[in-house]
Amino acid sequence: MNKHFDLIVIGGGILGTFHAYHTLLLGKSVLQLEKDNFPVGATVRNFGQVVPSGMEAEWFEYGVAGLDIYKSIQKEFDISVAANGSVYIASDEDECTLINELKAHYDTIGYETELLNQAAILKKYPAIKPSYAKEAIFFPQEISVAPDLMIHRLHQYMQAKFELYTLKYNSPVTACESKGAGVEVGLRNNTELFTAEKAIICNGYEFKLLYPELFSESGIVVSKLQMMRSIPMPDVKLEGNILTGLTTRRYESFEHYCPSVKTIKTPDHYEELKKWGIHILFKKAADNSIIIGDSHVYADVNHFDELGFDLSHYINELMLEEAARIVDFDVRKLQTTWAGFYPQHPTKHIVTYDLDDRIHIRTAIGGKGMTASAGYAAESIKKIFC
Ligand SMILES: Cc1cc2nc3c(=O)[nH]c(=O)nc-3n(C[C@H](O)[C@H](O)[C@H](O)COP(=O)(O)OP(=O)(O)OC[C@H]3O[C@@H](n4cnc5c(N)ncnc54)[C@H](O)[C@@H]3O)c2cc1C
Repeated sequence: MNKHFDLIVIGGGILGTFHAYHTLLLGKSVLQLEKDNFPVGATVRNFGQVVPSGMEAEWFEYGVAGLDIYKSIQKEFDISVAANGSVYIASDEDECTLINELKAHYDTIGYETELLNQAAILKKYPAIKPSYAKEAIFFPQEISVAPDLMIHRLHQYMQAKFELYTLKYNSPVTACESKGAGVEVGLRNNTELFTAEKAIICNGYEFKLLYPELFSESGIVVSKLQMMRSIPMPDVKLEGNILTGLTTRRYESFEHYCPSVKTIKTPDHYEELKKWGIHILFKKAADNSIIIGDSHVYADVNHFDELGFDLSHYINELMLEEAARIVDFDVRKLQTTWAGFYPQHPTKHIVTYDLDDRIHIRTAIGGKGMTASAGYAAESIKKIFC
């Protein structure tokens, strides 16, 4: 095997993979190294909602660019893209105000939206309860992917398409240093070495193998999210990305573009849910099961392990109660539950370090990686190579 590359990408999640993809499009050779037997980080534990409508400023633009990238790859190879749109369902007057304000913003920049009244919501999404749905905003151009499939298929696609792409699983990188005119990357205490012109570290929430001191001082916070999946429910009509009232009170775009966000009151029954960072999203999976989540509990990067390995029954119950208020199928018919983790920063949209002109770190993209990584990585690669 060739041991020298233009770029070595460390990390096999979505952020690393799109850095590899955009470098390959430039005609450069790429080695991508993933420590596990296959990716098991945030990239496979999420909803797979690709929702630029929830982002602000340049992150919205990255998300929109990402829609085109996913769609163009899907035309060549099935990476599980479903073009069913996103909907945010308002359940009270304040949430209706927010979605109308968001529509006004997107109208000014020409991003397509549609307001749905209650009858239109129930026609399109018969599984939503009339008692919950007041009004909704729909984004027809948005897509979703199957999180447990997408990254594997994207890797297959890239291996088939790009001769200059090498992907190695089961390859934990324990050293990455500038040496001579390039970078030297070592696996398992340097028992195997590779060299490259540059290296990009997209390590997700692994902070102990490379540059632990840097990450220890980074201010990064890790979020633990609880997720649930129902048994297959082929008769439940709930296609696309389904986001609900609490999401309108949480997502960046609403916070940034809706003036009323500062004055709306929090209804009493939301108080306990907000304490656990709960907002309810639904996504129908490839096997017709429904993914339901999520909650957020935080710990700083040096105390990540204190988030625990267990799932809180209390948090799941809070989510199920709120989910049952929204949909009319039995949300308690669950087949599995799990925890996902992602790193984020309290004041930055992503954490970047350019250690010199050869070693670059990109991590802590937060809860928007499935949406924004494809577009962000295009910009990031342009800056690194040009
Ligand atoms: C429950 C949940 C729901 C979410 N829902 C959505 C959603 O609907 N839409 C959305 O846009 N975003 C969503 N997100 C966020 C999104 O999943 C993340 O932003 C994204 O997956 C982060 O990708 P990543 O590549 O940075 O990290 P990861 O997916 O964690 O990948 C990092 C990879 O690097 C590898 N690695 C680390 N260190 C090394 C090393 N030294 N050597 C080799 N390999 C290494 C790890 O093994 C891992 O595979 C959600 C996240 C969670 C947890």
